[in-house]
Amino acid sequence: MESLFAHHRPGQAGCRLLAETLPTTSATIPASLRRGALPPLAEVSEPEVVRHYTLLSQQNLAVDTAFYPLGSCTMKHNPRVNEWAAALPGFADLHPHCPPPLAQGALRLMVELERMLAEITGMAACTLQPAAGAHGEFTAMAIVRAYFESRGEQRTTVLVPDSAHGTNPASARMAGFQVEEIPSTAGGTIDLAALAQRIGPDTAAMMVTNPNTLGLFEGEIDRVAALLHDHGALLYMDGANLNAILGKVRPGEIGFDLVHLNLHKTFSTPHGGGGPGSGPVAVRAALAPFLPTPRPVAGDDGVIAWAQPPHSIGRLLAAHGNFGVLVRAYSYLRALGAAGLTRVSEQAVLNANYLRVQIGDVLPLAYAAPFLHECVFTAKELKRTTGCTALDVAKGLIDQGIHPPTIYFPLIAKEALMVEPTETESRATLDAAAAAFRAVVRLAHDEPETLHTAPHTTTLAHLDDTLAARRPILVEPTATREPSPALSPPPRSLPSAGG
Ligand SMILES: *Cc1c(COP(=O)(O)O)cnc(C)c1O
Repeated sequence: MESLFAHHRPGQAGCRLLAETLPTTSATIPASLRRGALPPLAEVSEPEVVRHYTLLSQQNLAVDTAFYPLGSCTMKHNPRVNEWAAALPGFADLHPHCPPPLAQGALRLMVELERMLAEITGMAACTLQPAAGAHGEFTAMAIVRAYFESRGEQRTTVLVPDSAHGTNPASARMAGFQVEEIPSTAGGTIDLAALAQRIGPDTAAMMVTNPNTLGLFEGEIDRVAALLHDHGALLYMDGANLNAILGKVRPGEIGFDLVHLNLHKTFSTPHGGGGPGSGPVAVRAALAPFLPTPRPVAGDDGVIAWAQPPHSIGRLLAAHGNFGVLVRAYSYLRALGAAGLTRVSEQAVLNANYLRVQIGDVLPLAYAAPFLHECVFTAKELKRTTGCTALDVAKGLIDQGIHPPTIYFPLIAKEALMVEPTETESRATLDAAAAAFRAVVRLAHDEPETLHTAPHTTTLAHLDDTLAARRPILVEPTATREPSPALSPPPRSLPSAGG
């Protein structure tokens, strides 16, 4: 197949590289698959597009406009200076397939970021390739699989606590493992007796989130690790939310063999709407040969080139990771340093516990304190006495001008409201948030019907989430003089679709 560049500039190394990796021209696509006419795309002017999206953004509660305590998601303020760094032309305009001799600065950033993340996690090596947290989980499980295959061991099962994020069992399954659930104790941590009973020669690994999704530190993690290791299995940590333990605890020092991080939660990248993300995986020395290929490695002369780990699980992404997210994380880490990171976790834990104390009397905790970076309240009693659910409380908070917390997760907590204030909020904001929670609970007692129909201050009222996801009404903007339905703000209140 003739490729786009080979014809124009044959013989140049950089172009040969492009020729091998760029898609072929349309002439090589069979006629039956080619379009006969242009697609009927809407014609809209720039002002119309700008107004449309600006209007939509103004109808949202965002971290730039409101308190956004979405537990497990870490919706914190991310310093604007990191956006500036990621947008520097030398970084932003670099082609992913630029030959390494011409991209030494970017490669050095990657090597140094790998080293910093390995130090933070107490691991030997790190890959920056995975493009999200779940992608990192999958990468880790693929490494576990390759590791045991290289040793000729048949291990088919991955154990996951019932408090785990839903992506954990899904990632293990996608990597080819059977998944078995390990129950939690009444205190909300791993049931060691149940684990000891279940673990066996078929166990490849256990996936543990620590602090777990209840915001509780797994205090017996050393015994969990010993159990796994005594059976020849590996212990993996879901480190999506590292805010609680930065500079305090290193996963590699408490028995974990591999860990994934969410740069877009802990290390500064705004991540609303599903992207962009980055889920690096750090591993012990014994697992380093299995990391994804290629890895940036410095030679004796200091020049960095792409290298292939000897037993690599392969490539996970066409390029080398979400590079802009890596730049933000690097800039963030260099700005804060070790002392700054330690303060991040201290502040995150303090803020969560401050809020716990401010609202714990009107909204009880699902599990006993002490919490780390997030705390899980329950509306179980509120529902029994007023009929108002966790969902009602969440909707009521919108009327108070704050984004709802995560609700109905973790699954093991009834009527859960999972609140993560994050380290970037001031005491004044936390006090205002506490007042908002208290006002909503008061409304549940005084006027439950009003709370049932919240929110009352938004463009759209109570939506049927399921219907909205399954049968979305997508109206294409058109370039008419009359504002089209999609371009004008929706009516103030639409009848609920039911449910
Ligand atoms: C957010 C999160 C994930 C998944 O991360 P994505 O980047 O959304 O794929 C996994 N585990 C935990 C505990 C999380 O909070």
